[in-house]
Amino acid sequence: MKKWELSRLQELFEAIAAQEPLYIPTDVSGQPTFALWQPGMALTRELNTVRSAKDLFFPQVEELVKFKVEGKKIQVLDPQVQIRDQVVFGVRACDARSFDILDSVFLAEPADTYYRDRRAHTTVMTLACTHPEESCFCTSLGIDPQAPGGDVSCWIEGEALYLNANTPKGQALLSRLPLDEGEKPEADRSVFDRLPLKDLDLTRFGEKKLLDWFHSPKWGELSQSCLGCGTCTFVCPTCQCYDIRDFDTGHGVQRFRCWDSCMYSDFTMMAHGTNRPTQLERFRQRFMHKLVYYPADHGGQVGCVGCGRCLRKCPISMNIVKVARALGEEEV
Ligand code: SF4
Ligand code: SF4
Repeated sequence: MKKWELSRLQELFEAIAAQEPLYIPTDVSGQPTFALWQPGMALTRELNTVRSAKDLFFPQVEELVKFKVEGKKIQVLDPQVQIRDQVVFGVRACDARSFDILDSVFLAEPADTYYRDRRAHTTVMTLACTHPEESCFCTSLGIDPQAPGGDVSCWIEGEALYLNANTPKGQALLSRLPLDEGEKPEADRSVFDRLPLKDLDLTRFGEKKLLDWFHSPKWGELSQSCLGCGTCTFVCPTCQCYDIRDFDTGHGVQRFRCWDSCMYSDFTMMAHGTNRPTQLERFRQRFMHKLVYYPADHGGQVGCVGCGRCLRKCPISMNIVKVARALGEEEV
């Protein structure tokens, strides 16, 4: 185990950033956000960022390809910039687990090369939680917020930052830093046992009753107030839907991929129209995907990591916990 004085955190960031671009959770316009570290940039005091670290692998907007048109000739240009090694510090255990879910989608063959290259070139330094929020329920999904994983796990205890490498990538990073040896004191875990959602069970929505869950009369009531704003999907670390759009530049075409939301009325729009014409159907899709479809294809693993972002951000206070509880009341 390695150790660094917390009062000299800026020096550690400087040492990492001297080697590779470093992203940390910091406050940007009052919002905790992962941003490229600049001298003097401090860690946010908030528990977690508004949007997760998935942006670093799966940006909200990215250019996929360009087509240059000259007369009858079309040239295909790859605009993908050279992906450089980078480090992200301060990823919480929930977001670190969300990378496993994103990997299962983007790295399944044929792999998404844009995502794969960013993942391969990023060293993830996680940060253990000591002061969870009431909306956190990662522990009910088997995630240990005190053992956050990644390439390097970090803990802040007292006046020190403790660091432990979990992978060769993490070992390589730590070996290049002037760290001391240290033994992390035992952390107080009792706060996690007092979380109001610690006993939530999201694993009971198995595929066996898929059609029963699908036809539940609860969807109407649950989705009634949903604004279709998509906030829950944009803040969610495990949501991975996107749209691909072409823009005519006058001498060619630029093709972009942008995050999309199953809560939007034009999501998966086809020539004949939309497959889910009502908000009830769109709302149901989001939660059936997290609770039923994804686990059915991935050994029972729920497509949620309990980060609590949708609990904190939905303007009508609807979220996966309310849905799971409402559906769970039924004998189906
Ligand atoms: S559930 Fe809430 S955050 Fe999600 S689309 Fe509906 S209103 Fe927006
Ligand atoms: S569904 Fe909600 S609690 Fe679960 S991972 Fe997504 S934003 Fe976090």
